[in-house]
Amino acid sequence: MGGTNDVIETDVLVVGGGINGAGIARDAAGRGLRVVLCEKDDLASHTSSASSKLIHGGLRYLEHYEFRLVRKALAEREVLLRSAPHIMHPLRFVMPHDSGQRPVWLIRAGLYLYDTLARREFLPGSEAVLLRGHPAGEPLKEMFTRGFVYSDGWVDDARLVVLNAIAARERGASILTRTACTALTRDADHWHATLAHAGGRTTKVRARSLVNAAGPWAAQFLQVATGVAPRRALRLIKGSHIVVPRLFSHDYAYIFQHPTAASFSRCPTSRSTR
Ligand SMILES: Cc1cc2nc3c(=O)[nH]c(=O)nc-3n(C[C@H](O)[C@H](O)[C@H](O)COP(=O)(O)OP(=O)(O)OC[C@H]3O[C@@H](n4cnc5c(N)ncnc54)[C@H](O)[C@@H]3O)c2cc1C
Repeated sequence: MGGTNDVIETDVLVVGGGINGAGIARDAAGRGLRVVLCEKDDLASHTSSASSKLIHGGLRYLEHYEFRLVRKALAEREVLLRSAPHIMHPLRFVMPHDSGQRPVWLIRAGLYLYDTLARREFLPGSEAVLLRGHPAGEPLKEMFTRGFVYSDGWVDDARLVVLNAIAARERGASILTRTACTALTRDADHWHATLAHAGGRTTKVRARSLVNAAGPWAAQFLQVATGVAPRRALRLIKGSHIVVPRLFSHDYAYIFQHPTAASFSRCPTSRSTR
């Protein structure tokens, strides 16, 4: 076991090597700041390699009138598709439609906004399709005769993180993997952090600013490192992926809507099939 033998002076200490940490490190280093990123395990070893791998604008947020958010996300989708086409590609989504779902005019309006809120260079726009005779209609139940097709992007999420970390390092950042931030204190101008490396060695870092990019561990990290309970609790959400054998040979993805609340109340049996 080694002891403390280094002190690093930096402008920004980023704790966490997921997509947020790596992206922030890249951005800060690109602005000429001195950056240290520490990741307790490996880059993208947690949430950022277990996502659904979509580069999307957030179609469903339009229903909550989050137009500005969706526009920013759509613009960023273009940036990503342009900057790393070797790890991303367009993906066409088929949304089968039936009368129990949102009305056609609403879906058309939503997709029109999705197509036009931000400049679109790489992805084709949305369209209505007749599913009979369409390759995407083949595996579906016969009741689905029409639907909509729209675009989003697919990305190799873990590689996106690693590429951001490499780009940050090329701009001068230190990327320290298998290095946990274990203690943190603050004086008037600086954060003083202890970084514990996998072999037992520790490094002290004096940083002008700190970015807590610890993802699901953000609250726990603060509590353990500072000994102070965060004033606000962090509510974690969980997503699940169910992997099934491939059922069709075309390249479309499907997105299925839940029946609307109104059609649920009209059709009690649909509850048991949800
Ligand atoms: C099921 C699911 C599907 C999703 N699908 C999509 C999608 O399709 N498209 C999309 O854009 N988003 C998607 N998301 C959201 C996206 O995956 C997350 O928003 C994103 O990965 C969060 O990244 P992060 O960097 O904040 O966290 P993480 O990737 O979890 O990174 C945090 C890192 O901090 C490190 N860490 C923690 N404590 C310390 C410490 N003390 N010292 C050093 N390091 C520490 C951890 O080891 C971890 O690697 C999905 C999320 C889920 C759960």
